[in-house]
Parts: sequence; C-alpha cells; structure tokens
Amino acid sequence: MTLSKRSFSRFNSFQHDVARAKAHRWRCRSGARYLYVCEDGLVHWCSQQRGYPGIPLEQYTPEMRHRQFYTEKYCAPLCTVSCVQQVGMLDNWRAPQTLKPVPVTPPAAQPELVQIGPARGDS
Ligand code: SF4
Repeated sequence: MTLSKRSFSRFNSFQHDVARAKAHRWRCRSGARYLYVCEDGLVHWCSQQRGYPGIPLEQYTPEMRHRQFYTEKYCAPLCTVSCVQQVGMLDNWRAPQTLKPVPVTPPAAQPELVQIGPARGDS
C-alpha cells in the first residue's frame, strides 16, 4: 500500500490546527527525544520553554530524560514548535504521558579527586 500525497499531509495536521488557532492533541517529547541546549550549556524543553528543567547538560541523567518522556507538557495543545512535533510524531501512538512537571535538581556534586602526594618539604 502506498500513501497518496493527500494521505501524507495528514501527518502534518498540527499545521492546519495552528493555522486555525485550534488546540492539537499530541504528546510533546521535549526533554527526551528533543533537547534544547542553550548557549550556557543548560538543557531546556525547547526554545519557548527555557528553564524547564534548566540544568547543565553534563548533569542531565538518563533517568531525567526518561521522566521528561513521560511528562505531559501543559503547553502542547497550542504549541507552534514544528521541529519538536515532527520528532515526536511516531511517539503519539505509544507511551501515554502520565507524569506532571516537577522541578529537577541536579545530582549532588561529587567531591573532587585530590591527588595525594608527598607533603611540602618531604622528599
Ligand atoms: S509543547 Fe511546544 S512549547 Fe511546549 S515544551 Fe513542547 S515544544 Fe516546547
């Protein structure tokens, strides 16, 4: 079976909803399938939602990413960020988002390793 040109356009139905100012039902996977990393190296849901979670990329754990995948984004129905919608298109059929957004705290800082060597004056 092949899709006609018209059938393929159904996958971009969010664009029609945006044009009509209609709420669109979809599951935004920002923070998981899609990451926005700003010039300060912080991870955000997207360019429109800076500050969520807003933590340094090197502290962004797989557990945090998984949590964001299952977190419902309150801004999704009227979202206009096409690239995130494109990335999440195939996830709309699976993995319902049952979690609510919560503040994310980076993991506790690990103590710096200190090289132990001879004390000054020792030789
Ligand atoms: S729904 Fe849109 S605005 Fe909200 S986080 Fe996802 S991409 Fe960003």
